[in-house]
Amino acid sequence: MNFLPLALVLWLSLTVASAVACEAMRFTEIPIVRMSASPAKDAVRLAYPQSRFSTDGRTLTLDGQHWLDWGEVRSVVPEEMLETPTVAEQFRYIYPLEFDLRQREEAFFDPGRIRNHGFFSTLYFAEEASSRRSLVSVRHEGLGNASFQVTSRNNVSCQLAAALAALADMKQDFSPFFREVGGGFFWRKVSGTDRLSPHSFGIAIDLNPRLGGYWLWSGARPGKVGRYDNHIPEAIVRTMESFGFIWGGKWHHYDGMHFEYRPEIIIHARMMKP
Ligand SMILES: [Zn+2]
Repeated sequence: MNFLPLALVLWLSLTVASAVACEAMRFTEIPIVRMSASPAKDAVRLAYPQSRFSTDGRTLTLDGQHWLDWGEVRSVVPEEMLETPTVAEQFRYIYPLEFDLRQREEAFFDPGRIRNHGFFSTLYFAEEASSRRSLVSVRHEGLGNASFQVTSRNNVSCQLAAALAALADMKQDFSPFFREVGGGFFWRKVSGTDRLSPHSFGIAIDLNPRLGGYWLWSGARPGKVGRYDNHIPEAIVRTMESFGFIWGGKWHHYDGMHFEYRPEIIIHARMMKP
């Protein structure tokens, strides 16, 4: 046997393995550090350590180059807030950490669904090709064949891999939810709108759509969505949240198959807890 190629193969396989292995964080457990009078700004700092605020706190950079206005929570109609929100308005509704679907009965209670375009295009990507180049396939054999393409930016693929591993460790049968999944990356707009979906940045995944439930399929009109008949187990929701993924089942405009990497929303919810 030729020793050198074997050594090379071993080295290469180790390199690949270490590129996949990573240090995942549990955002429901990390220490909360207050640095300013604004829980929302502190949540952004903790979730994305590369973020920087101007000294007056009015502008924010998430990539060291582009500066965004933080803005304020305006008194505008909910539709306008959804369409063209400020960064501050992303925190207008506090995400419920309890597995409680009563708050979503309030019209437009959509914590995490309000997204400022500049925030995401700076934190992630402004165009499809760069988003595609960052993708990694994440799966866990303990959950069936489902595979999700997500971005490696901001540790998203690492966090998802850890969440799936934690779910597989529970030894419960989650396989129906991971069958015929909706998937991860997809450069597209949110259904019926001009806004880019978080799937475009590779930060969102959809489980089995048949078990998820989506408000538009119920025939409801915006702001007038009725009861949500949930089938997603609490253990899946809590585990995903722990690793930084919020769940669309808690929204007034519910999207029960949808999980989205938004650690700042989880941290903010912890800070705002009475
Ligand atoms: Zn989705």
